[in-house]
Formats: sequence, structure tokens, C-alpha cells
Amino acid sequence: MSRRLVVVGGSDAGISAGLRARELDPSAEVTVVVADAYPNFSICGIPYYISGEVRPWQSLAHRTYADLEAAGLTLRVDTRATRIDVAGQRLAVTGHDGTEQLLPYDELVVGTGARPALPAVRGLGGSEGLGPADGVHLLHTIDDTHALMASLTDRPVASALIVGAGYIGVEMSEALVARGIATTVAQRPAEVLATVDPELGALVRAEMEDRGVEVLTGTTVVGLARAGDGRITVTADGGRLERTFDLVVVVAGVRPDVALLVDAGATIGAGGAVVVDDTMATGLPHVWAAGDCVVTHHRLMGITYLPLGTTAHKQGRVAGANAVGGHARFAGSVGTQVVKVFDLVAARTGLLEHEALAAGFRPVTTQVSPDDHKAYYPGAQPITIRVTADADTGRLLGAQLVGRLGSEVAKRADVYATALFHAMTVEGMADLDLTYTPPLGSPWDAVQMAAQAWSRDHRPPSVTALPSVLTE
Ligand SMILES: Cc1cc2nc3c(=O)[nH]c(=O)nc-3n(C[C@H](O)[C@H](O)[C@H](O)COP(=O)(O)OP(=O)(O)OC[C@H]3O[C@@H](n4cnc5c(N)ncnc54)[C@H](O)[C@@H]3O)c2cc1C
Repeated sequence: MSRRLVVVGGSDAGISAGLRARELDPSAEVTVVVADAYPNFSICGIPYYISGEVRPWQSLAHRTYADLEAAGLTLRVDTRATRIDVAGQRLAVTGHDGTEQLLPYDELVVGTGARPALPAVRGLGGSEGLGPADGVHLLHTIDDTHALMASLTDRPVASALIVGAGYIGVEMSEALVARGIATTVAQRPAEVLATVDPELGALVRAEMEDRGVEVLTGTTVVGLARAGDGRITVTADGGRLERTFDLVVVVAGVRPDVALLVDAGATIGAGGAVVVDDTMATGLPHVWAAGDCVVTHHRLMGITYLPLGTTAHKQGRVAGANAVGGHARFAGSVGTQVVKVFDLVAARTGLLEHEALAAGFRPVTTQVSPDDHKAYYPGAQPITIRVTADADTGRLLGAQLVGRLGSEVAKRADVYATALFHAMTVEGMADLDLTYTPPLGSPWDAVQMAAQAWSRDHRPPSVTALPSVLTE
């Protein structure tokens, strides 16, 4: 008899699980239960639809409904999973018309993802709080995107406030500026993009300000209220700042959506996410989980919570393989991420110093700004690179890069990511055989120049004779 696999969640983790399961076991009956009507959409692309660069919204689909069905997935859209009967191996679901049903399964994969975090702001959230009809938006789903687009097109929007200057906040500032909207970004921390050190966050802020974004850091938004003219009055810093905007977008991080699994008896770990092992097993019999709803195995930090689309795809693939009898393991994240901010790119992989300290290393950091290619060839631009490595062993622990669009910042970050994945030393990076031609690089690539600068600063020559790859 063919195996019945039920997947909850139709985004990166759930669809990856379903597709991998069918790939390995074409006889498996795979049913994907999706709360909304948008299976396999790239929510990472939402800012580029809002900006107008990507049209229509349907093109954000990684795959169409028909593609997914052709791959053997049975889709149950507008259907919410409400309860897992672990002992009976059945999933309770409620359809869009309210009908309830029990779906029997042999194996279950849960990829319920995350929900936007709601900062403690008066007038936000709850039945009394302002919402999309008032021009106050959260941003995570395609429904959220439609609601935001309606606010942007149904009435004139001259000014907008974005609460949160993480990567989605900075992407959204670019999107709203592209629509000709006077855009303000406010957040409590002292510098934008906390995923990189403030030295590099300052470069990102400068780019945003050059492009006309008003950046208010060290600013805590405490209240939202409807103004008499239909706009939104925003109060910050205990009332010291009061301004009115046409639109507010709150992008203050995410929280794992774990209710379904927790009610079934799963354990909560880092970041409030569900504990899984590296096979994506939850510990509940025949129940696997992946993506933003579960903890992240990090190759340098151990168990953490680091919700990213790239990770959700990989974890989903592992869960899908194991649900049909495979022996896959999630190899672990190194926290690689990148964001485009107007004409700048900021990337980061591995650990910041404070994270490395907490993980038991003795991190030291060097910052340099080598050119992206030979200075004599027109258009050379500096890339600011911070390399963090362990002072005792020379092991690379992290790298952060900020440079111009076109300077291959993302792919250079990926060189560090690859080195981190293989536990290389900084010195060992000098041995890497990387590409060179004057319009695109240098005989020592920028990533190697930064690594060499770290060695000069922190490693006396007598102790450099270490293996280029450390065994963990
Ligand atoms: C604007 C934006 C930009 C981003 N940009 C990037 C980027 O550039 N790079 C990157 O790596 N990551 C990015 N991310 C993060 C990335 O999108 C997420 O990490 C990824 O989507 C997580 O996938 P997931 O499948 O775990 O969960 P989610 O995408 O949260 O999906 C959860 C799925 O579960 C369904 N669901 C939830 N509860 C139920 C239920 N009870 N019953 C049935 N279905 C249910 C939902 O409908 C949805 O289909 C971005 C996120 C946003 C919002």
C-alpha cells in the first residue's frame, strides 16, 4: 500500500518536504494542507512586488498550482490544520466553508512557519487595535501583501512609517521610496540592520538617507491612533515624538507558529521554536517538522533560532526524505544572509563577536575595504569587509560585507560561508583558488585580502603553521 504523507504548510518548508518525498517515493500519496490560497509563493519577493519591480503578484509563485499537482502533490488550500491526533495518526482540518475533517496519515510533516512579531505598541493588535483598514500593516503572507497594496492604491499615500529596520524594514523602505512615498524608518536599536555590526550598519543607514529615507534609530514607537483626518498618529519615546503618517508597516521580526505542534505535545526550545533533531524528527511518533516553526542547528553555535527561507527549504527537504523512509540529516546553518538596500548590498555569514564569545570562542575582528577589482580597470569600488576569527586557533568565525550592487558582495560572502561550513582557518583562505581577471577581481581576491589583513593583525607568523581546515 502506498504511504500517506500529510504536510501542513504550503510555503518553503512544507512544499520542499512534499516535493522531496514524491521524488524519493513516487508512489507516496502526498497531501499538502495550506491555511491560505497561495501555495509555494516566494514571500521573500514581496518587497519587489510592492516596489513595482515584479508584476503581477502571481509571478511571485515559485511554482504554479498546476506545477505542484503535476509533481504529485494534492493541495488542500484555504484549509487550516487544527489538531494532531498523534496516537491515532490523524490530522483535524477545517475547510474554508467551516467543514471539519480528519485526515489519516502514516507520516506528518509540519511547516507552519512563523508569524510577524507584534511589538508592544498601544493601538496595535487585538480587537481594538488598528489594522489594514486603517493603513496599519504587518507583512508576512500574500494576503498581507494584497492588503498593503490596497492601502497603497485605494487612497493617496504621501508618507509612511516603517517600524523596524531589520532586513525586511530596509527592503520595504526601498520599495516605498520607489513608489514616491516619503518614508521614515524607526527602530529602538542605535543602528539599522542589527544582523551586521554597527560599523557596517552605518554604511547601510547612509545609503538609505542618501536615497531620502528618514532613519530614526534609538526611537521606540509606543502608540498608534487614528487621527481625525483618517491618517495615523504615531507616538514614540514616551510621547516626546508625535507624528502623523498615511501608512504604517510594522516589520519587527517573527515568532515561530508552534501552537499545532505544542498542543500535540512537542517540546519548545530556542526562540520559542519546536525542538527537532537533525533528521527533523519532533520526538512525537511519525511527526516531523521544518522551517520557521523549528529550532535551527547552527554549525558554530549549536541550537539556535534563525528563521530564513534558505534554511526552511533545506530542512523541509530533509523532513520530506525521512518521512518516506530516508536517512537525511540537516547539515546545519552558518547564518548566511544578504540584503539589497538601494545600490548597496549587505551580507553576513557566521557569527558576530558577541555571538562567538557566547559560543565559547575568543573572537577578534579586522575591518578592511579592498577594491572589488583592479583599480586600473574603470569602476572599481571598495567592499568593506569585517572578518572575525578565533584568536587561539585562527578558525574563521564570521564575515560581514557591505559594497555596491554589482560588486559580487553576495557571492563573496558565499566564499566565507563555504569556508565556515568546512571549519577553515583564516590563513587557509589564502590557499583558495579563486577567479581573477582585472575587471572582476584581483590576483588575491577581496575576500583573501581581508583574511590576510586579519592574519597580519592577529596572528604572529610563528603560529600560522596550522592546518587550513580544523576538524571539529
Ligand atoms: C518580506 C519577507 C522577505 C523575506 N526575505 C527573505 C530573504 O531574502 N531570504 C531568506 O532566506 N528569507 C527571507 N524571508 C524569510 C522566509 O520567507 C521564511 O524564512 C520562509 O518563508 C519560511 O518558510 P516556512 O515554510 O517555514 O514558513 P512560512 O513561509 O511562514 O509558511 C507557513 C505556511 O504554513 C501555513 N500554515 C500555518 N499554519 C497553518 C495551519 N494551522 N494549517 C495549515 N496551514 C498552515 C501557511 O499558510 C504557510 O503556507 C523573508 C520573509 C518575508 C516576510
